[in-house]
Amino acid sequence: MACTVTLLAHTPDPDALVAAAARLCYRDTAAADLLKGEEEKLSRGLIEHLWTSGHLSTFEHVSFTFGVDGLSRVASHQLVRHRMASFSQQSQRYVKMDGGEDVVVPPSVAAVPEAADIFRRQAQAAHAVYQALTAMGVPAEDARFILPHGWETRLVLTMNARELHHFFRLRLCRRAQWEIRGLARLMLAECRRVAPVLFEKAGPSCIFGPAAGTGPRLCGEARPCGRPYRDMEDLLAGEEAGPAS
Ligand SMILES: Cc1cc2nc3c(=O)[nH]c(=O)nc-3n(C[C@H](O)[C@H](O)[C@H](O)COP(=O)(O)OP(=O)(O)OC[C@H]3O[C@@H](n4cnc5c(N)ncnc54)[C@H](O)[C@@H]3O)c2cc1C
Repeated sequence: MACTVTLLAHTPDPDALVAAAARLCYRDTAAADLLKGEEEKLSRGLIEHLWTSGHLSTFEHVSFTFGVDGLSRVASHQLVRHRMASFSQQSQRYVKMDGGEDVVVPPSVAAVPEAADIFRRQAQAAHAVYQALTAMGVPAEDARFILPHGWETRLVLTMNARELHHFFRLRLCRRAQWEIRGLARLMLAECRRVAPVLFEKAGPSCIFGPAAGTGPRLCGEARPCGRPYRDMEDLLAGEEAGPAS
């Protein structure tokens, strides 16, 4: 299965809410009236100012909850390192891993028929041992030790917009691993759909700089990839549109 991302829920009207929170800082408006008459044009100007000046606590008022299917445990292990996010992950203790082919095949493996064949056969063999162990009464939580690291998982995760900007800066960079980069690309597309202003400048440092407001095209990597993205269109239409399955 190819990795899929579903935006399960988000704070209503995220652009307007962030702009409203900023207005409280800059104007003498009653908090109760902040969302009245919020205009898109004014929101855009305010959000650009917040991003440029690094006033990013305002981005924390809106959050986004994603459902993820078909991600490998290799990538989920990297994903859960993001401590500002909240996660719920499918348990391999309580859910039996019944699908014999539920393993993510890296594109580099899929591209070489012989490699793909060895890979698949080995994954199937590991799964057959898993099935045999559970049939002998070994608990699923112990039988799972034999499953490959690339086994698929499901998660629900929630991040606020500030953490999402941070996540996209790190994980859309070409130096990030291909699968988590594909996941970040799918998540960004969802964010841009419902909060186009808030996420207009979300992306890697080669496009937007190593931190909010630092200026574009400044790679923050100690070892740059040497292939900076031209712009977001280039990134979103990238060659690594998502993990192979
Ligand atoms: C290309 C790449 C390669 C990597 N390689 C490795 C590797 O080889 N080995 C490895 O172990 N990890 C690796 N990582 C993971 C990396 O070290 C981070 O754990 C991960 O990217 C999460 O980033 P973060 O801590 O900034 O984010 P989050 O946990 O989401 O935190 C967001 C921000 O909150 C602040 N923050 C959060 N918690 C604390 C805290 N306890 N104290 C102070 N400030 C805090 C920091 O400013 C942080 O940047 C890699 C990451 C990338 C992108």
